[in-house]
Amino acid sequence: MTVLVINSGSSSIKYQLVEPVSGEAIAVGLVERIGEGTGYITHTYDGNTTEITAPIIDHGDGLSRVLDLFNEKGPRLADADIEVVGHRVVQGGKHFAGPAIITPEVRQIIEDLCPLGPLHNPAHLKGIDVAMKLFDVPHVAVFDTAFFQQLPDEAAVYAIDKKVAQRHAIRRYGAHGTSHHFVSTQVSEILGKNNLKQIVLHLGNGASASAVVAGRAVETSMGLTPLEGLVMGSRSGDIDPAIIFHLARQGNMSIDELDTLLNKQSGLRGLAGENDMRAVREMAVHGDDGAQLALHVYKHRLISYIGSYWTLMGGLDALTFTAGVGENDAQLRSEVIKRLSPFGVKIDEDKNAVRSKEPRIISTEDSSVTVLIVPTNEELAIARQAMSLIS
Ligand code: ADP
Repeated sequence: MTVLVINSGSSSIKYQLVEPVSGEAIAVGLVERIGEGTGYITHTYDGNTTEITAPIIDHGDGLSRVLDLFNEKGPRLADADIEVVGHRVVQGGKHFAGPAIITPEVRQIIEDLCPLGPLHNPAHLKGIDVAMKLFDVPHVAVFDTAFFQQLPDEAAVYAIDKKVAQRHAIRRYGAHGTSHHFVSTQVSEILGKNNLKQIVLHLGNGASASAVVAGRAVETSMGLTPLEGLVMGSRSGDIDPAIIFHLARQGNMSIDELDTLLNKQSGLRGLAGENDMRAVREMAVHGDDGAQLALHVYKHRLISYIGSYWTLMGGLDALTFTAGVGENDAQLRSEVIKRLSPFGVKIDEDKNAVRSKEPRIISTEDSSVTVLIVPTNEELAIARQAMSLIS
């Protein structure tokens, strides 16, 4: 019994064949540069990676090549016993507080939500439409926004004219919810407590923080779209919205140019010229001023959010780092925790330095807050949610 998990982007498709009970990723792959001249596919099964370089016309072409790869390189899909296909969907608006079987009605809602998720939902629909033709099993959408559906109004509502907000469905929907849910649930299991006050820091290329009380999200840093909040690889995170008016009026920038500026040319890339944290660190070590400033701004924003969420929850039991930067950047963790030392937070630097794929506690026995590293696994979370919905 397996689940095929599909994360379809505008020019890429990530997929995993997952055994949802053991959590094993049986096969993993990525189709890149769809419709862009030369495309790339990598497919890994049983320790062997196959790489293909060829034009990939569209998502249908990409997925049918993936099917060929499964049948040529394994595992054969006829023998894989796929029970359900789970699709990642970034924007579920106010409609979905959990996963949903993709019926024509659900598909229509995902389509209607494209204006709120213009970078993601149209791409997800391409993957959904193609996969539904290819796999005659139930298909389930798992929404990044679902975990944040129950945000209290005080956190979800923007202080703008409420009639305008209502007309345009403007509120804070959050994102990365599948990861924040997965990681905060793991923390509860590791610590054996359900009533924890937690902060989860998902620091990847996109980055977000959440505050979770007794398993329920009460705050998150992403808003109407994944642009709000922390400094990210290429997104600005929080800015004064008046910067947009200023650049439109004084800089003659169009809406599309502003969108590109804030989503693709800002964050670490805007300040240091590189969006990849490893590259920024490397530049900083060699004395690059822009990279050093980028790291300071990144850390400053992170610490502000931790302080804010700690206060909002009236306490903090567990602080968890996850995703590429959170799981791997020991220096960032060390520097962030040092800033929390006036509040009694302490980590064991030896434990902090260990590289591992396992969830682990890195705080000392006498720390006021338990500090953890919990590797996220959105594909497994999607597989398990899809499986539990159909059973
Ligand atoms: P996403 O899924 O959002 O594309 P990931 O969770 O894979 O992103 O995180 C990618 C980020 O993790 C990149 O900025 C990368 O530089 C960073 N990263 C990976 N390994 C390390 C490391 N050892 N030190 C610092 N950053 C790292």
